Amino acid sequence: MMHSSKTLYVHTIGCQMNVYDGEQIARGLIPLGYRPVGRPEAADLIVVNTCAIREKAEQKVFSFLGRLAILKEKRPDLIIAVGGCVAQQEGERILSRAPYVDIVFGTRSIDRLPELLADAAASGRPRVAVEMAADAFVTPRPPEKGERVSGFVTIMQGCDNHCTYCVVPSVRGSETSKPPEAVLAEVRGLTEAGVREVTLLGQNVNSYGRKEGLCDFPDLLGMLNEIEGLERIRFTTSHPKDLSDRLIAAFRDLPRLCKHIHLPIQSGSDRILKRMNRKYTRAVYLDRIEKLRTACPEIAVTSDFIAGFPGETDDDFRQTLSIIETVGYDSLFAFQYSDRPSAPAARFSDKVPDPVKAERLRRLFDLQSRITLEKHQKLVGRVETVLVDGPAKKQPADGPVSDPTQWAGRTSGNKIVNFTLTPHWKSEAVCPGRLIPVRIEAAFPHSLRGRPVDGGAPRSGAQGEETHAA
Ligand code: SF4
Repeated sequence: MMHSSKTLYVHTIGCQMNVYDGEQIARGLIPLGYRPVGRPEAADLIVVNTCAIREKAEQKVFSFLGRLAILKEKRPDLIIAVGGCVAQQEGERILSRAPYVDIVFGTRSIDRLPELLADAAASGRPRVAVEMAADAFVTPRPPEKGERVSGFVTIMQGCDNHCTYCVVPSVRGSETSKPPEAVLAEVRGLTEAGVREVTLLGQNVNSYGRKEGLCDFPDLLGMLNEIEGLERIRFTTSHPKDLSDRLIAAFRDLPRLCKHIHLPIQSGSDRILKRMNRKYTRAVYLDRIEKLRTACPEIAVTSDFIAGFPGETDDDFRQTLSIIETVGYDSLFAFQYSDRPSAPAARFSDKVPDPVKAERLRRLFDLQSRITLEKHQKLVGRVETVLVDGPAKKQPADGPVSDPTQWAGRTSGNKIVNFTLTPHWKSEAVCPGRLIPVRIEAAFPHSLRGRPVDGGAPRSGAQGEETHAA
């Protein structure tokens, strides 16, 4: 039954996988007559898509739910649904903490949301669905034509690695891979809707297909590389212990595979890596980096770190700083360690005091900021192929408030480039989704600025990312 004029607000906290789920939730509710709105106050249905990976993310969920309590008091007919990792982890307990919530649905129950809404409306009672269904994947629904340049495709759910700080195996279940035919069909659907860049998502894409005996990840990339209309392929996340020589070779051999790898290391100390149950050593990790750079010298490398894991000494932390220097990351994500109640490390006794964790995190970011800026400065004078995202969000300080000559895009290494259109390029009708050569003229801590190369042609078809010396 169609209900016209119902409004929906999806609030997503957390990683790209949650962003993908949030998009699928919103698209799955359109056939029920829901239209997305930009603020919770204007919505008839609010879906909170939650993350439990860090304590802070979980706190954010409950503080957002607190805001919704006030809305629900004013409008008792407002429907509130809570999904994602916190919903999976807490289940019924969400209702004791936030009794105004109508629906709690777990990470593998997204497709059941329409049915749960109908049940809750018919019974007038809250509904909770957190079973770990074997069918891990939400039915994919492509975006509207021309809605976006980049899209996500979840190719795996869950994880079997059991790092001692992590709750993913308990909230997303055991590792499951989406069959290659389904991945290919989803990516084709995205390209038909105008998407030019796809990011494949999984907790550890390097073990794709292994359990089910499907094709392996490099083979999947090879098939995706042939899809017409797809310009760029990215993926995240890669576990270093499973990074194969074949995957390394794919960076050299597949022109559409972006020259960027996110390879989380978490710590530079073997002692801490062991306590984290990461199953690789610093030497193995450095060997993988060397092989990657031999196969693909311009590859951008990013990583994740945890500062202040239980038992981390000053010397362990020095090894973390030293690996950041040695690898020379393009950028990194880092967090202070926080206990997740269901993760084994929560029971480790030798916790690092909060002020020490904070100080280590600050030193880590200081070091990386310097390295990132140096990396950006080295690109000045080079020509990078940029996939145009759209008009620049940030206009130059000395320019008009909304200057139509200011555009933004990203390099193959995933660096943001803001650029000014020259008269030549204005006449070329630069638009989102095009690949254009941009000479880098200035470097900043988080972005680059450049100017399209006059006389260059926008490119289509398979794109190797060449970085030409000026
Ligand atoms: S590999 Fe480790 S950190 Fe990553 S999802 Fe699996 S258990 Fe968590």
